[in-house]
Amino acid sequence: MDAAEFRRRGKEMVDYVADYLENIEKRPVYPDLEPGYLRSLIPNEAPLEPESYEDIIKDVERVIMPGVTHWHSPYFFAYFPAASSYPAMVADMLCGAIGCIGFSWAASPACTELETVMLDWLGKMLQLPECFIAGTHGRGGGVIQGTASEATLMSLLAARCKAVRRVQAINAKKSESEILSKLVAYTSDQAHSSVERAALIGAVMMRKVPTDNHYAVRKEMLKKMVEEDKAAGLIPFYFCATLGTTPSCAFDHLTELGPLCNEENMWMHIDAAYAGSAFVCPEFRPLLNGVEFADSFNFNPHKWLLVNFDCSAMWVKERADIIGHWQIPLGRRFRSLKMWFVFRMYGLKGLQAHIRKQVALAKEFESLVRADKRFEICAEVVLGLVCFRLKGSNELNQELLKRITKSREIHLVPCQLSGRFVLRFAICARSTESHHIQQAWQHITQLTFELLQEATGQYSPTAVQDNHSVTKVKLCSFEALSYIQINSIFITFLCSDRKIILR
Ligand SMILES: *Cc1c(COP(=O)(O)O)cnc(C)c1O
Repeated sequence: MDAAEFRRRGKEMVDYVADYLENIEKRPVYPDLEPGYLRSLIPNEAPLEPESYEDIIKDVERVIMPGVTHWHSPYFFAYFPAASSYPAMVADMLCGAIGCIGFSWAASPACTELETVMLDWLGKMLQLPECFIAGTHGRGGGVIQGTASEATLMSLLAARCKAVRRVQAINAKKSESEILSKLVAYTSDQAHSSVERAALIGAVMMRKVPTDNHYAVRKEMLKKMVEEDKAAGLIPFYFCATLGTTPSCAFDHLTELGPLCNEENMWMHIDAAYAGSAFVCPEFRPLLNGVEFADSFNFNPHKWLLVNFDCSAMWVKERADIIGHWQIPLGRRFRSLKMWFVFRMYGLKGLQAHIRKQVALAKEFESLVRADKRFEICAEVVLGLVCFRLKGSNELNQELLKRITKSREIHLVPCQLSGRFVLRFAICARSTESHHIQQAWQHITQLTFELLQEATGQYSPTAVQDNHSVTKVKLCSFEALSYIQINSIFITFLCSDRKIILR
């Protein structure tokens, strides 16, 4: 492909991308395939002779698209959002063209400098304390990591170095390996799996702190564990707090936990991978109160701030703590370009509008769920995630999700909360509107209706003859059904809580 062909194909690709995104809701959101589907569709070896661009692009629809889970479909409600916007995609093209490996200032000054300034811009949008902002008198600053997982690992490694130095400053005879074997890190029992993995890679012990009934870590529980461990001769050195946990979007109590960590000389890292983007809105900023106690803070603009993957923003209070290991790889892409394009083309107001719109959609879904007595909300809806379930057994909810997944009209994933199987409904795509939410709920209630109707066969309700023409039915497992089969006749009934009046 020479420059002339690139001009033509590049423009065609832009059209393909725009068509794909404009018409994405016509595609089934979740693929209908068996694992291993792809291998039989393409040759076993790379071609010896060059092939034409036409042949490749034809295979995109034949081979690739059938196997894509469409994260940017307005019917995608699984996991957490993956950010996407046109300015970010355009900037990524430029990043590809410059193609520098920005491992040092000299390797590409613009790459290093724009990143520092973008992290300052973003930090100011979040009203981070000045100590985290590089262009001030503070000693802190920001860096782009690939993922939140890497940010957590970097913070843990920095904390580990610092703890070793601190112990050796008091007792120079202690060997590093002796100290390492005594270090203990803490995180919530609701924390992301990447936190536990960071401890595994960092070769330190990690303990899970039990959470309260809002799935948040409170000071008392952490304090108790830290004291037990100190009494056992261990060295508490690190706590990873979560703002916006993955299962239910719960918030650890930073204003209680921060001072404790500071007193105990424990590094406090904050993982706000999803929720962090919301802090650009003043009304959600109080959720970040207590960040002033943290040593490092991280969130993913690639989740909810319209900057395409990968872009995870990390700030530290003391640059000196992580200099020498700002990141795991040597090479770095010019990722700040996509932040620059997005921040300028949306403006702070545009970013706030995006967050507010999606929170409003979550609230809309929440009210639909609350209005239906068969369902319950399982955790407070603070941002764009709604955790809900059918009142009833885990098996019943598993079956409902199975049917939702199989229908391929909408896509969601479950979580476990206090041993209960819960459905997570996250507002994800930028193109999701109110009518998609209404349609998704319509679909869920339709599948629920069918499920409960079938289930009556299995869980035959006990009918109790009442005085006159009214029969009360006590349901075994379900709160409400529209039809019930008694003596082989379908009878419509009105439902009031557990008592069902037959007409
Ligand atoms: C999504 C998520 C992560 C993982 O993010 P990556 O960038 O993929 O590593 C970590 N923590 C929380 C709370 C998350 O929601």
